Amino acid sequence: MSKKLDAFLETNLNELKEQGLYNEVDTVEGPNGPMIKVRGKELINLSSNNYLGLATNEDLKQVAKDAIDAYGVGAGAVRSINGTLDLHIKLEEKLAEFKGTEAAISYQSGFNCNMAAISAVMDKNDAILSDQLNHASIIDGCRLSKAKIIAFKHSDMEDLRAKAKEATESGLYNKVMVITDGVFSMDGDIAKLPEIVEIAKEFDLITYVDDAHGSGVTGKGKGTVKHFGLEKEIDMQMGTLSKAVGVVGGYVAGKQNLIDWLRVRSRPFLFSTAVTPGDVAAIISALQMIIDSTELHDKLWDNGDYLKKGLKELGFNIGDSETPITPCIIGDEKLTQQFSKRLFEEGVYAKSIVFPTVAKGTGRVRNMPTAAHSKEMLDNAIEVYARVGKELGVIN
Ligand code: PMP
Repeated sequence: MSKKLDAFLETNLNELKEQGLYNEVDTVEGPNGPMIKVRGKELINLSSNNYLGLATNEDLKQVAKDAIDAYGVGAGAVRSINGTLDLHIKLEEKLAEFKGTEAAISYQSGFNCNMAAISAVMDKNDAILSDQLNHASIIDGCRLSKAKIIAFKHSDMEDLRAKAKEATESGLYNKVMVITDGVFSMDGDIAKLPEIVEIAKEFDLITYVDDAHGSGVTGKGKGTVKHFGLEKEIDMQMGTLSKAVGVVGGYVAGKQNLIDWLRVRSRPFLFSTAVTPGDVAAIISALQMIIDSTELHDKLWDNGDYLKKGLKELGFNIGDSETPITPCIIGDEKLTQQFSKRLFEEGVYAKSIVFPTVAKGTGRVRNMPTAAHSKEMLDNAIEVYARVGKELGVIN
């Protein structure tokens, strides 16, 4: 056993603990639904990404069980050897239909999808214009590609335009990409895709949208690209199958030639075992539900509006979210953490998010209402917020 490794771990773990940056991970003792059990306590769950409540949907559970009976529990191999089941092909056809593109490719997670797709398309001779608040998996995918990363100020179109002009006119780069989250999960704001597309057209940029938090939520469920009617303008529509869709996995949708390239060049497709049959079958059915009906989508937005109104009326700062994501911005990091802890004690599970995930002094408790919450649950949560907010002097 390496002494160097032990010394490294001890020093660094202690340092994190001293700085209060060592996060304990809670164990959820049962399903991740609108209510959850943590440390033996039943709580109103406002922390999941299970936007449409599909993670615990009874029909999807049955579909997954039937697929396990028909195919077994594992895909058996990586996609390019013999792990591509007919189910994977059906899934990719369904994803292309869902996103309004020629084709799609699926991956084992949203995170490795970004790592896979960005690095398959961009290389050291290229540059990537990346929104400052993009998700960690985008940042890592960009780093892996070895392209020059040029961050632009969050949703600042003047800054993007200036940097796009500079990058393309410098003659230093072969291709230039602009990459953005569709919905930013810390504030719930939506990327300015029409302006981004305009700039991309002017400078011939490749456009890449990570719509992890938009698919199932914006565009009547079809996502942020659809919300703006830009299906024909975005080169790479990335999404996750773990949030609104309720299962696990990631995908890129786009033109056939792009998907053909990703099939032969993206490394997690080539070298990591395919998503399990039970998961894939459940995802196909979940996508069909989202395509066929806006009922869950409408319920999600109704619940989002209800929670926002309730918290705003109490005097909380809920920011400028354009989606059901409802941040409750408290500011001071310690107070934010204390707030979240008191919510827990009073029966509400809503996590604190502080620096470095968000800027210093903008600590917040982030609420993610879902289609599965009842009004009674939301009323109870609002009542707890009122009590804890007054107790800690966050509201009057
Ligand atoms: N992109 C964004 C914007 C995300 O928020 C997340 C999940 N936190 C991912 C990608 C990764 O998705 P997954 O959880 O499916 O790996």
